[in-house]
Amino acid sequence: MLNAEISTRKDKAISRGVGMQTQIYADRALNSEVWDVEGNRFIDFAAGIAVVNTGHCHPKVMAAIERQMKSFTHTCHQVLPYENYVSLAERLNGAVSGNFEKKTVFVTTGAEAVENAIKVSRAYTGRPAVIAFGGAFHGRTFMGMSLTGKVAPYKQGFGAMMPDVYHVPFPIDIHGVSTKDAMDALNKLFKADLDPGRVAAIIFEPVQGEGGFYPAPAELVREIRALCDEHGIVMVADEIQTGFARTGNLFAMDGYGVAPDITTMAKGLAGGLPLAAVVGKAEIMDAASPGGLGGTYGGNPLGIAAAHAVLDVIEEEKLCARANELGSRLRQRLEAIRATTPEIVDVRGPGFMVAAEFNTADGATPSPEFTQKVRAEALKRNLILLTCGVYGNVIRFLAPITIEDDVFSEALDILEESVAAARGN
Ligand code: PMP
Repeated sequence: MLNAEISTRKDKAISRGVGMQTQIYADRALNSEVWDVEGNRFIDFAAGIAVVNTGHCHPKVMAAIERQMKSFTHTCHQVLPYENYVSLAERLNGAVSGNFEKKTVFVTTGAEAVENAIKVSRAYTGRPAVIAFGGAFHGRTFMGMSLTGKVAPYKQGFGAMMPDVYHVPFPIDIHGVSTKDAMDALNKLFKADLDPGRVAAIIFEPVQGEGGFYPAPAELVREIRALCDEHGIVMVADEIQTGFARTGNLFAMDGYGVAPDITTMAKGLAGGLPLAAVVGKAEIMDAASPGGLGGTYGGNPLGIAAAHAVLDVIEEEKLCARANELGSRLRQRLEAIRATTPEIVDVRGPGFMVAAEFNTADGATPSPEFTQKVRAEALKRNLILLTCGVYGNVIRFLAPITIEDDVFSEALDILEESVAAARGN
């Protein structure tokens, strides 16, 4: 089979609403490498968008799934529960920061985790409004999309958004927005439009993901915490992209020393199986009536078994330390490339959640064109890179944290060549 043939069939069979980054049809994958249906080998710096942090087909994760598959694949936890669902909740309750009793609910996707975080926040506070940040990404369901701080393509044509959702600017120094600007906007919102006593939750990403890999300044996180405490608002950290060792901590919030009331997680949780979780203060999580949360597939046994193995692998292979080591090598290499590449205006990100931002050669304007050129040149050399950012001018590097040293070195060389080729060198 040829990629081009499948691609033609895809155009006829699949909604164009599913945007696609490549037309490379995967055949098999192992750790940080993927082979397509034509037998070509690629180095995967996307990891299914920060999902296979523990690598494709990690033997321990595969063995756990296989064991579970041989016992049963589905009973629906609301009908016939299973113990490993409970023990995974216990593990996550203990792993998330905050010196208070916590409870968990399992769902299937990141967007669904966000939906449920808002549902329990509303039920607990008895309030309707939610505040999010410009550039944020929280999913494609109605509440997720409403909270997402980017119109095109996420909200275009989809009609009325959920009511009582407000956005304030996210601080990004290189775009001239400070933490003070963000907090001033929040306080203005409270003066002009919104009684803080009507706000159920403030949701934010510790590092904005789709929005461009912008870390939340520590001061912002502290000020959100203080504001939530002052007004009885639930603080929700969306760790769907930042979770599971990516930032050099199990959760990015560990690096801030601030405990959110609720954490949403998905992606890296189950090594590629669809599993998501909402973990939060017990009294908030218990605000919903029995039957108000859950779903047929929420906490599917295969995902639960995989997640236990993923947590084991993160511990056993010390993936938080490994993320810091790999990230520091990547940032060093990017800084070296930057020395001869005026288009690179920023290299950033905690742990192995690293990004480079590209402007025109005069440094003045975001350049999605140059960014796409780098991505295309890398793809020609069999390195899969992902872009992001409100202006589409950021490349995010999301290789598995288990990537082998020699494959990583090979990828860094390809990256350097690709940037040079994009500049016409
Ligand atoms: N929140 C964040 C921070 C995300 O990065 C994503 C996915 N990119 C989501 C929510 C939505 O997750 P899903 O695609 O699993 O619905």
